[in-house]
Amino acid sequence: MSAIANHWLNFIDGEWVDSSSRLSVNQPATGEPLATIAQTSVEDAQRALEAARRCADSQAMSRVRPAQRVTWLLQIAAEIRAVAEEGAWVLCQENGKSLNDARDEFTEAARYFEYYAGMADKIEGTSIPLGNGYMDFTQYDPMGVSAQIVPWNFPVSICARSLAPALAAGNAVVIKSPELSPLGMCVLIKAIAKVDLPKGAVNLICGRGREVGNYLVSSKQVDQIVFTGSVPTGQSILRAAAENATPSVMELGGKSAALVFADADREQVLSSVKGGIFFNAGQVCSAMSRLLVQREIYEEVVDSVVQLAEGLTVGAGEHNPDLTPVISAAQLSGIEKLCRRAVEEGAIVATGGEAFSDRHGHFMRPTVLRDVTPQMGIAQEEVFGPVLAVIPFDTEEQALSIANGTDFGLVAGVFTQDISRAMRCTRRLKAGQVFINEWYAGGIETPFGGVGLSGFGREKGQEALYSYVRTKNVAIRVTGE
Ligand code: NAD
Repeated sequence: MSAIANHWLNFIDGEWVDSSSRLSVNQPATGEPLATIAQTSVEDAQRALEAARRCADSQAMSRVRPAQRVTWLLQIAAEIRAVAEEGAWVLCQENGKSLNDARDEFTEAARYFEYYAGMADKIEGTSIPLGNGYMDFTQYDPMGVSAQIVPWNFPVSICARSLAPALAAGNAVVIKSPELSPLGMCVLIKAIAKVDLPKGAVNLICGRGREVGNYLVSSKQVDQIVFTGSVPTGQSILRAAAENATPSVMELGGKSAALVFADADREQVLSSVKGGIFFNAGQVCSAMSRLLVQREIYEEVVDSVVQLAEGLTVGAGEHNPDLTPVISAAQLSGIEKLCRRAVEEGAIVATGGEAFSDRHGHFMRPTVLRDVTPQMGIAQEEVFGPVLAVIPFDTEEQALSIANGTDFGLVAGVFTQDISRAMRCTRRLKAGQVFINEWYAGGIETPFGGVGLSGFGREKGQEALYSYVRTKNVAIRVTGE
């Protein structure tokens, strides 16, 4: 594979621009520096916002025939597919994820643009009967300037997830990439920049969250905030958003539970555990971080999950192993700390529980903690690593109470052959999405978002498009009727 450029730039008002200071991007598989990126200053962020503001105020994205936006989005999708190999390599190196998963991110990014291209010319209002003397209709206007803040775990696909519907609806966008993994997004935006969009429609900046991110979300120039990231950052952004009453979409963390009943298909459970908690080294907001197992099959399931964990291949992302490194040394030590605390609280390490001591880079052992009780920290807090907490239950009622017993509510899963049980549980689970018999079933077409501290608003699917518009009602007095 080709060498990665040493230094990367920001994209502001249609141009790639450098900055006087730089951020270093490291390689999780080795812990070594990989490249640098221009660190956006507050002044640069201001220029990006002004560019987006000019674009939004000129209605350059929204006054065209909607078919033009369809064309733009389809062209973007084709350009993304054309850079998928190059981008996947960059993303794999900077993020640690497997090359196949990095490739999937670019494919998924292209799919978001294709999907919302199909909606860009169907954003239709309604007509409302008011009787003689009046006509009334609604229309959907773009929000204006959408500020989008992206986390490091799926930077390319999450960037596309928000950007595609925003552009489909006619907005201008300023995106802030995550400091730890910004380079794949530069490849994505380079592809997008090949399409002749209005100047200022898409801007990409990479600065520190507390300075540049905070500047963006506090600005009156911003008409909408789309944030994907951790709960504490989301809460801080919401406090800033309150000042200007800026509408926000919040996609936050999770502590999602799979409920495994005694009649569950064991192969479905095991393949779901493999993807659910070990994919992307467990650094997934909707990871299956709690496995709730009916007591009569608890020992059997724990044994097979331990066997699964111990059989995983581990290595650098370019070799496409089952388990890749976590993003940083700080992330790794945070995960180990939560495991140690779980043990202090009475959980038993069935396997793993610590980092690999014989590997360079940030490799956490695939971990299964058993005899976890619902009140332990490990059953309540997001770990964001390859750590599975296995909790026994006796009855359906008890399983639901444990599953719903955290402050989060992103996704949940039910494994059973009994459709009525699955439907009963689905109705009562506190989650934005429920998987039956396969974790991560669903796709870009299915609405996604949280309940409780997992956030609000929906991304993906047709529903998400309506996060990027405002309804305007037009009430007309008709004389002479
Ligand atoms: P994070 O909250 O640390 O950072 C996310 C982004 O916010 C980064 O770009 C960061 O620079 C920026 N930021 C930090 N402080 C800011 C501030 N004060 N104002 C504005 N921006 C600021 O999250 P992370 O560690 O990058 O990502 C992991 C978290 O994201 C996990 O909690 C995970 O569950 C969550 N996540 C949620 C979803 C979802 O769709 N619900 C998807 C992926 C990740």
